Formats: sequence, structure tokens, C-alpha cells
Amino acid sequence: MDEILSVIKNKDPEQREFHQAVDEVLETVKPVLDKNPEYRKQAVLARITEPERVIMFRVPWMDDDGQVHVNRGFRVEMNSAIGPYKGGLRFHPSVNLGIIKFLAFEQVFKNSLTTLAMGGGKGGSDFNPKGKSDAEVMRFCQAFMAELFRHIGPNTDVPAGDIGVGAREIGFLFGMYKKLSNEFTGVLTGKSLDWGGSLIRPEATGYGTVYFGAEMLATRGETFAGKTCLVSGAGNVAQFTTEKLIELGGRVLTLSDSSGYIYDEQGIDSEKLAFVQQLKNVRRGRMAEYVETYPDAVYIPVDPTLDYNPLWAHKADCAFPSATQNEIGAKDGENLVKNGIMLVSEGANMPSVPEAVNLFIEHSLLYAPGKAANAGGVAVSGLEMAQNSMRLAWPREEVDARLKQIMKSIHKTCLDAGENYGVKGNYVAGANIAGFVKVVHAMLDQGLV
Ligand code: NDP
Repeated sequence: MDEILSVIKNKDPEQREFHQAVDEVLETVKPVLDKNPEYRKQAVLARITEPERVIMFRVPWMDDDGQVHVNRGFRVEMNSAIGPYKGGLRFHPSVNLGIIKFLAFEQVFKNSLTTLAMGGGKGGSDFNPKGKSDAEVMRFCQAFMAELFRHIGPNTDVPAGDIGVGAREIGFLFGMYKKLSNEFTGVLTGKSLDWGGSLIRPEATGYGTVYFGAEMLATRGETFAGKTCLVSGAGNVAQFTTEKLIELGGRVLTLSDSSGYIYDEQGIDSEKLAFVQQLKNVRRGRMAEYVETYPDAVYIPVDPTLDYNPLWAHKADCAFPSATQNEIGAKDGENLVKNGIMLVSEGANMPSVPEAVNLFIEHSLLYAPGKAANAGGVAVSGLEMAQNSMRLAWPREEVDARLKQIMKSIHKTCLDAGENYGVKGNYVAGANIAGFVKVVHAMLDQGLV
């Protein structure tokens, strides 16, 4: 294990997030390798940690003033053992190859857990859509797809949204793909309802994270009714996590963006959430504006001199990190535990640093890693692909019922795998082991390719 990790680190020393994601998986799948000595001979770890294909490309585009800019585009096709590559596109200035590789690697295990036939991939660009006009975003998306289109397809690689890629971007990307390929196919998911999207896809990640949380609570005879919840982020995942928590009787106290967070002691109700959705999705404004409309709440701007995020230092029952990777640092983990948090369900990908994860496990919290808890998004993307293939659309209730069932089944799969390998109640080990075993079986069945 150590040798594999050190080879990976030596090959690409700057890809820290990728090392972190690999390290966590390697630590937990050791018992599987011990039980199956042939896996070592087959070098399954070296194979599963090396992307099948990495595509990097130049994206030149012109802003509204005629100035040309150049960004970098990525698509990492990590593993196609159980289906076409599937995973989102992220547009954020922090994007680099290491970030996309970590996300693609996580996606392999997550997609395996959904029980749907999807391999793992991820892509994106260091383009920052914030502050750009719709026309600039359109030109960027078209330039990005002008290269990506030759590498993807409904049976090859099916991208979706992620940070900075929502309904608007998916529309522009799909339009360009359709023009270049002269085909109307389900090549992207997260499409609008009028042209091939699935009901519940926008809600799926947030709803799924809460459904997973409800399953964990049920193991201790509890529900969300009356529970106080800390949610970070204010984008797609945070919004629909909040919506479902409100529906189930939880009281959401916080939301955030990269500039700061709001704390609303009264709880964010449906009316306040509708305000946030209008603010973030239509006006593309900042969370600071929340307190102008709801002055009983407080806004706390990011303080770069602190080594912790005060959002996670509020007393609450449950936490739903829904912004970005490593947003719960070591000290945040300590604050959460100190304040008696009972549940952490990760909407974001790898939002907790390893020190925080270890603390959650040590204190027997109900802790669900993103690759299990936020798999509802990609699961409904899989359902969108199925509906596209059949050229029909299922009603909202049907998709929601399937989502709920999938989250229930992922929860059980993680619990069972943990128990079978002697780490009962450890959802991290359970998710990694269950995801790993299925993909490895498929890889070995298909020979050395
Ligand atoms: P959005 O772009 O809709 O929202 C992201 C939110 O997180 C924004 O409020 C943003 O603030 C904040 N944020 C982003 N980067 C940072 C940062 N570096 N520091 C602080 N805050 C930040 O993205 P999503 O809601 O789609 O994604 C959120 C997380 O969920 C990501 O980790 C993503 O990988 C994960 N995820 C998403 C899925 C989906 O279906 N969308 C599926 C599974 C996982 P600001 O506006 O200021 O940038």
C-alpha cells in the first residue's frame, strides 16, 4: 500500500487532493486485498489509481470587449469497467489536474455504489464563471465543447454539472455538442426538462444526502424532526439539502458562499430559501445580501487569519458540508465534536480533512463520506440516461421514489460491507470496500485492458 502511494506521490508530487483521496481508499481496502492475494498479482491498486485516459486542452475564448483569454480544459476518464465514464464538469479558478483526478477517482466508487452501470470520470476548467456575462459564459462553453465533443458520447462518456456548471452552462454545452455531432442524444445530464432532462435531477444530490442522513439516524431510532442543522454552501447541493431538511422538520441555521456565511437562529424556512434561490440562481448575488432582507440573521465574512471556520463552531445536531473539498479542517472537526454534533452527511466531495474524518469515526458519529452520501446526484443522472435511451420521461414521484430507494440501498451496502470486514458502523470503510470490490471484479472479468 505504502509503495503504491509513494509511487503515485513521486510521479505527480503536486496532486495533493488526489493523494488524499487515494490514501483514504488504500487504508480501508487492505482487508479485501488480504482476503484475495491474487489482487496483488493483478496489480489492481496500481490499475485502479491510474486514469484510463487524461485529456487536457486549450480553451481560447473572447470576452465582451473583444479581449481573448485562454483557459485550460480537462477530462479525466478514470475507469470504465462497469459502464461509460460518468461524472460532472467543474468550472472554478482552483481547478487543476490533481483536483479533477481526485474527483474522478471518488466518482468511480460512488458510481459503483449506485448499482447503475456507470464508470467514473470528471472534467472541468480553471475558467471562473463568476462575474461573466451570459454571452461570455456561452462563448466559453462553446469553445470548451469544441474540443471535448470528440471524446464524449452517450455510450462513451456522459458529463454533468458540478461547481460553476448549472442549468445555464449545461444548455450551452449541449447546444454546441448537438451542432458539432449533428445528433440529439443524452450526452450530458442535468439538462432542462423541455429537452431531455429528468425531474428531480436538480434536487437529487441534496435530497439524497438528507435521505442518507435519515437512514443513518434511523439506525439509532432518530429522525430529523426538531434537529438543528449546519449547512455550508449556497449552490445546488446546499439549496436542496435545505429544502429536504425543512420538509422533514429540521431547522437549518446556516448557509455560506466563498465570501462568508449567514447564521439564522430562527431557521431558514421555505420563504427564506426561495429568497436564497432567487439570489444565487437568478440574480447571481452574494449571501451577504440575506441579512438586508432578514435582519434578525447575522452575516459573518470570511476571516483569512483564522485557522478554523466559525460556521462549524455553532452548536447543532447535524452538519451538511455542501460547498467544496477540505472545507472542514482539523480544528473544525474538533469544534463539531466538542459541540456534540451527532451526524455529518457530506453533500460536497471530500469536504473533511483526514484528521476530522478520524475524529468523527473515533467518536462514533453517524458520518457519511461524500462518495456515499452525495451519490443521489449521479444516480438520478443515471436515471436521466435511462429515460433518454427510452425517449420517455418518468413522473416526479417515480424518480423521487427511485432516488430514495437507491440511497437506502447504498446505506445498507455500506453498512453490510463494513460489518463483513469487521468495521461495523464505519461508513467510510464500508463505501470504499463495496465500491472497490464491484469495480475490481469487473476489471478482472474483462482481462488486462
Ligand atoms: P455550486 O456551484 O452550485 O455551489 C457551490 C457553493 O459552494 C457556492 O455557494 C460556492 O460559493 C461555494 N464554494 C465553492 N468553492 C468554494 C471554495 N473554494 N470555498 C468556499 N466556498 C466555495 O456547486 P454544487 O452545489 O453543485 O457543488 C457543491 C459540492 O457538491 C461540490 O463539492 C461538488 O463536487 C459536490 N457535488 C455536487 C453534485 C451536483 O449534483 N451538483 C453531485 C455530487 C457532489 P461561491 O458562489 O462564492 O463560489
